[in-house]
Amino acid sequence: MSQFAFHQFICRSDNYGLLLHDGKTGATAAIDAPDAAAVEGQLDRLGWTLTDILTTHHHGDHVEGNIALQQRYGCNITGPRHEAAQIPGIRREVTGGDTFTWADREILVWDCPGHTLGHVAYIMPAENAAFAGDTLFSLGCGRVFEGTLEDMYRSVSQFKSLPPGTMLFCGHEYTQSNARFALSVEPGNVSLQERAAEISGLRAAGKMTCPSTIGAELATNPFLRTGSQEIRAGLGMNDATDEEVFAELRQRKDSFS
Ligand code: ZN
Ligand code: FE
Repeated sequence: MSQFAFHQFICRSDNYGLLLHDGKTGATAAIDAPDAAAVEGQLDRLGWTLTDILTTHHHGDHVEGNIALQQRYGCNITGPRHEAAQIPGIRREVTGGDTFTWADREILVWDCPGHTLGHVAYIMPAENAAFAGDTLFSLGCGRVFEGTLEDMYRSVSQFKSLPPGTMLFCGHEYTQSNARFALSVEPGNVSLQERAAEISGLRAAGKMTCPSTIGAELATNPFLRTGSQEIRAGLGMNDATDEEVFAELRQRKDSFS
C-alpha cells in the first residue's frame, strides 16, 4: 500500500468530499467539509482520524461540516485569511504566497478571487495535486459571485503553470454539464469529443470524473483555451484579448442550459 492516499466521494448531491491520508504520520486532511456526517462516515469506514481541514472558501457547501468535525476530532482548520470571519472554527489563516508543511509535504497557497473574494487553492507538488475548490472545474470554472471576470480570468489562468501531470481536484462533479457547454463552443476539438464520451460513460456507470489532470484540461477546458481559433471564430472574437474571450465564455455559460 502506498504511503499516501486520496479518497474522494460525492456528498450533498454534487459536492466532492476529499480526504488525504499519510500512512507514515497518520495525518488525515479533508479538503473542505461539505457535510460532517458524510465525512465522518468515510473516516470511520477507512479507520482514519481527521487531523486537518483545508478550506477553500466560505460557501456553506464547503464549510458546513467544520464545527461538528472539529468537535469530534479536534482538528486544525486552515482557511483563507480574507474570509476568516466566515470560516467556522478557523485556526490558521493563509493567503496567496504562503506555504506550510502538512504530513511532511509542502503546500502552497494561491489566491483565487472571483467565485468569492478570498477563495484560495492549495497546491501539493510532492503528490502532484492541486485542490482548486470552486475556481477551476473539469471542463469548466466557477461562477463569478464576488469578484470580477478579470479576477476570475487571472485565478483560473494560474493553473496553466502547473506540470501537465498534476491531478486537478475540484469542488463539484459538474463535468458532464460542463462538457455540453465546452462542445457547444469548440465542437471540432477531438480531444474534447473523446473526453465527453468518456465522461458520459463514467456518469452512466455512477462513477466520478475527477481528478482530471492539468494536461487534460489544457486540451479540453474552454476557459483555459481562450487562444483557440475555433472558439474565437465561433464567438466572432478573432482579435479579442484572452481576457475578453474568457469573460464572454463565462457570461455565456451563466445562461447556457
Ligand atoms: Zn462555492
Ligand atoms: Fe461549491
